[in-house]
Amino acid sequence: MGKSGWLPDVSSNFFFYRTLAINCLQKRDYNGAAAALYDLNGCLGEDYLVTINTESFNKAMADQEVYLCNHCTMDVVRIVNKGEENEHEKTVQETREVPTNQVKLINVIIPFIDSVLTGNTTGIVWFCPNCMQENSIRETKKIVPTRERPFYLKVVAECPVRGDGISNRMGFDESFNNWFQNLLEEINWQEVLYRKEYTAQHDGDDMDSRDSDGGDKP
Ligand SMILES: [Zn+2]
Repeated sequence: MGKSGWLPDVSSNFFFYRTLAINCLQKRDYNGAAAALYDLNGCLGEDYLVTINTESFNKAMADQEVYLCNHCTMDVVRIVNKGEENEHEKTVQETREVPTNQVKLINVIIPFIDSVLTGNTTGIVWFCPNCMQENSIRETKKIVPTRERPFYLKVVAECPVRGDGISNRMGFDESFNNWFQNLLEEINWQEVLYRKEYTAQHDGDDMDSRDSDGGDKP
């Protein structure tokens, strides 16, 4: 296995539990799959642990509504080839999202010419906390970012419980799969953050060891 050097213990545990979880899921051993995911989550350690709590998850989801700023963009980090040997991050530019609960809506008197066009003398605006520019609420898109986008909450709902009867069982397969993918994505993202911090902390160490192995110093 490539990737020499980083997080030797954690990375092999991580590989083990991730493989186990996916194998269990493929065999529809849902208890095993959930248990392996919990162990995988545990590999991250306290600071990066994904919380598993339905109430906190629902609260976090309710806070997900965002306005799109018409004036600025933001960096979004995407993971390319997740779980593959050549996995890497890519930063892309997307329209700036501002959580609606961070925005203050202000009633303003609008310019005469606009008031003639719209028939209103006042309008509602908000100021983007990033670029400080004014957005008219009438021209603002409000969205709930979808899960496909890299938008991590560090919290997921509790594992779905299997009900009785065939129809429930059909529903359970799907809801378990969704839950599984969701938690796995969250854990993968925390692993990326973990690895980033680890690399930042140990960059100097690598340089030192290379220097001492590699003979002549300038
Ligand atoms: Zn802006």
